[in-house]
Amino acid sequence: MKAKKKERKTGKGAYACRRCGRHGAIIRKYGLMYCRQCMREVAAKIGFRKYS
Ligand SMILES: [Zn+2]
Repeated sequence: MKAKKKERKTGKGAYACRRCGRHGAIIRKYGLMYCRQCMREVAAKIGFRKYS
């Protein structure tokens, strides 16, 4: 049991979705900071077709 739990600046859990606060697959690209789920909704509004 040598698992260290240090705060990391990268990787999963480092960021939370600014829309729903969920951790996980956060898309930081273009400074969006949304999770996958929110990304789909937001992307549709801002005109992203990649995620539609
Ligand atoms: Zn979200």
